[in-house]
Amino acid sequence: MGSCVNRVFGTGYSRERTGVVQYGRMKIAIIGGGAAGLMALAAAREANPQAEIHLIERNEAVGRKILLTGGGRCNVTTGLTDVAEVLTRYPRGAGFLEDAMRAFPPTAVRAWFEAQGVPLKEEADRRIFPKSDDGRDVVAVFERLLREPKVIAHLKAVAEGIERSAGGMFQVKIRGLASPLQFDRVILTTGGRAYRETGSTGDGYAFAAKFGHVITPLAASLSALHVREKWAGELAGVSFARARMSVPRGGHEFTGPFVFTHRGLTGPAVFAVSSLIAHEPVSATEPLEMEIDFLPDETKAAATERLNRTCQQAPTRHFENVLTEFVPKALAAVVCRETKIPADRFAGKVSKKDMVATVAWLKGAPLRVIGRAAGEEFVTAGGVDLTEVNPATMESRLCPGLYFAGEILNIDAFTGGFNLQSAWATGRLAGDSAARIS
Ligand SMILES: Cc1cc2nc3c(=O)[nH]c(=O)nc-3n(C[C@H](O)[C@H](O)[C@H](O)COP(=O)(O)OP(=O)(O)OC[C@H]3O[C@@H](n4cnc5c(N)ncnc54)[C@H](O)[C@@H]3O)c2cc1C
Repeated sequence: MGSCVNRVFGTGYSRERTGVVQYGRMKIAIIGGGAAGLMALAAAREANPQAEIHLIERNEAVGRKILLTGGGRCNVTTGLTDVAEVLTRYPRGAGFLEDAMRAFPPTAVRAWFEAQGVPLKEEADRRIFPKSDDGRDVVAVFERLLREPKVIAHLKAVAEGIERSAGGMFQVKIRGLASPLQFDRVILTTGGRAYRETGSTGDGYAFAAKFGHVITPLAASLSALHVREKWAGELAGVSFARARMSVPRGGHEFTGPFVFTHRGLTGPAVFAVSSLIAHEPVSATEPLEMEIDFLPDETKAAATERLNRTCQQAPTRHFENVLTEFVPKALAAVVCRETKIPADRFAGKVSKKDMVATVAWLKGAPLRVIGRAAGEEFVTAGGVDLTEVNPATMESRLCPGLYFAGEILNIDAFTGGFNLQSAWATGRLAGDSAARIS
């Protein structure tokens, strides 16, 4: 029984346990060697070099998911510097993150990696990458740490359970080991359950639940979306640098680039929308209505006026060709079909009413979302309930000595380096707090 609260030891137990930990003899377990766990390791080493720190990772190498980010280049963090603005990129967890983010904001993350010998660069979309464009340089920083004295790496080691003894020590059971390992403190950084083949299978949720933690509903986030409309599939491969997507249910909207796919839509704006609707039920029987504004920087009146002018200037052009002044050719054909205005009608013969209808469609093309690209989401929305974790330390409020960081928490963000940023920030705070005697 791993329970910490009331059922076994009672809440007063923690004070007693904290008092017996000795600085130089402290043993810390970090379960999960992803971004959060690795940064927790770095911070714990810095805060208490005498502590014995065990990193337990099921893969034979650490940082597998880090290597997937940014298409293998590792999107280390964001170039945004204003923490308040950075926090607007988190649909869940922004308030909770404030302490961790102010303690280790994107600017500090950048400085930290550069100090570790990884020069970084910022791209036009504000994402930060290693100058080498090689995510392995980021992971190598931590691999070096694993060879430091008093750091013990358990690779190809699956944590199967955590118990707490009456003496106050945590006992971590590792598959294949005859007896559990004993620790004063445990940092749970097992991630979410996205891209399970990377090792993030969601094991940590069960460990946390065993200590009384509530796991909020889990959902896929940052994924492509499938839609019912056949015309979307006809446009597969057609991309837009800027369109506004809105979902009336919940009043969500996001403006950015996207591309049509055979089954729907993908790209940064779609990922953001998928994040905003992560907890909305979506299925073929319960589709979610969505609209795309292909002319997000023009009012309806201005777009209608421009269309009218373009038609007047070339009255003998086919209407479909006139529309290519507004949208890509493939979409122009779809617009004519969906609005039932003949594509070959002379521009000079198109009525004002038809122009208004065309612009209305271009500024609110209706789509019904019927699914998400299953198994391809980048992150898991939901996780350990934030009300049960101290945001100033990342320590469990239910089980002192137990810490959380990274995607296991109910925190997730849009694309752009924000998910790694929260893993670094919470990991650092958890490692630092766990290694100190308060
Ligand atoms: C394809 C893809 C692209 C992404 N791109 C970006 C991007 O460009 N920018 C960005 O900011 N974010 C991106 N993300 C999200 C980001 O990578 C994650 O949010 C972040 O890495 C989470 O870090 P974490 O340490 O919390 O968890 P993880 O990286 O998932 O690490 C958890 C670790 O725990 C280990 N583990 C789990 N259970 C056990 C167990 N029982 N015993 C031992 N070990 C265990 C796992 O093997 C894993 O190594 C992307 C994600 C994916 C999948």
